[in-house]
Amino acid sequence: MSLIVQKFGGTSVANTERLQNVADIVTKTYEKGNDVVVVVSAQGDTTDEFIEKAYEVNPKPSKREMDMLLCAGEQISASLLAMAIEKLGYPVISLLGWQAGFFTSTANGSARIESVDPNRIKRELDQKRIVIVTGFQGINRYEDMTTLGRGGSDTSAVAIAAVMHADLCQIYTDVEGVFTADPRKIEDAKKLNVISYDEMLELATLGAQVLNNRSVEMAKKYGVELEVLSSLTRKPGTIVKEANKMEEMLISGIAKDNDVARVSIIGVPDRPGLAFKIFTKLAAKEINIDIILQSIGRDNTKDISFTIPEYQLEDTMEILKCYVETIGAANAVYDSNVSKVSVVGAGMETHPGVAAQMFEALFDANINIQMISTSEIKISVLISRQDADQAVTAIHKKFFSNK
Ligand code: ASP
Ligand code: MG
Repeated sequence: MSLIVQKFGGTSVANTERLQNVADIVTKTYEKGNDVVVVVSAQGDTTDEFIEKAYEVNPKPSKREMDMLLCAGEQISASLLAMAIEKLGYPVISLLGWQAGFFTSTANGSARIESVDPNRIKRELDQKRIVIVTGFQGINRYEDMTTLGRGGSDTSAVAIAAVMHADLCQIYTDVEGVFTADPRKIEDAKKLNVISYDEMLELATLGAQVLNNRSVEMAKKYGVELEVLSSLTRKPGTIVKEANKMEEMLISGIAKDNDVARVSIIGVPDRPGLAFKIFTKLAAKEINIDIILQSIGRDNTKDISFTIPEYQLEDTMEILKCYVETIGAANAVYDSNVSKVSVVGAGMETHPGVAAQMFEALFDANINIQMISTSEIKISVLISRQDADQAVTAIHKKFFSNK
């Protein structure tokens, strides 16, 4: 007998028919003799609708009351799913986050899970019940309900799987797994059978939004193997696990990130310490810097360029405008019409030539590279935004066609 955690996202529980579909998946798993803990998200767009409603009533609601409201979304889907399972004649109970032992930090709206006390869930499983838990929520030391931040129910599922040493943690969603590129855009994108935690984290931050980042970090930390799969097609999905347990593919995927802008400080005096001062100022405002490029000095000045998330552009330019004069630089300019395209693959650590192939694909497509950055498992280029889709197509073709 195994313990299986199954998490169902908003689309999987969006309406009565979908709830019945989930009830069928869950009870079939139970029927095979497994203990089953189910974690649910709010139905469809419920969370967005609740937020909208809140702002109608009060444009500045307190975070505590917002969490009171948002927690209701998961309560609705958990209770309705329990009813759908009751109707099929199986023993079942739904629990709110606090009943299921989720203790979190105090930060309403972005709380962190501090511990999960599994005793209640264990007692219910001992009674042979299917246990349904509301994702995305817990209780803090003031006995107030908290939420974990958008998309947080993936993390709830992984936390239960970690604490209870589950044999399997399945994350059911509306896509069939993790693909080599966005399947809505790239026709021959292929579903991956397996991907490592690190690759998944890179792809997630680069805009392949299949799993919540924090959930992958937690899965990696506690060694929880995940399966991402679709509740609608029910085909085997993608396994996310430690790299050393898998046969490595050279490249796992190509990702595109449009939420990026390039900033350049022109004519920075060529003296030690200025880069340090500039980046300290930006760090103090929590500006998230990614690719950094410094030109070789000429005429005793140099240019420093870097990328940031586009939404932080205004803040960044404000800081730089004030600072350019102080350090005696000429100017600060930006370009928000850029995208970052990346190749991710654990195999590139040991296989030379990946960068060359990527650049060749871009050259063949006549796409100019503005900046380049690399890590052990990733190569990113910054290019003009209008070239981004074509770049992904060209690079994807280079690495994945006829394979
Ligand atoms: N319902 C929450 C949200 O939409 C949590 C989740 O879906 O994971 O952010
Ligand atoms: Mg959701």
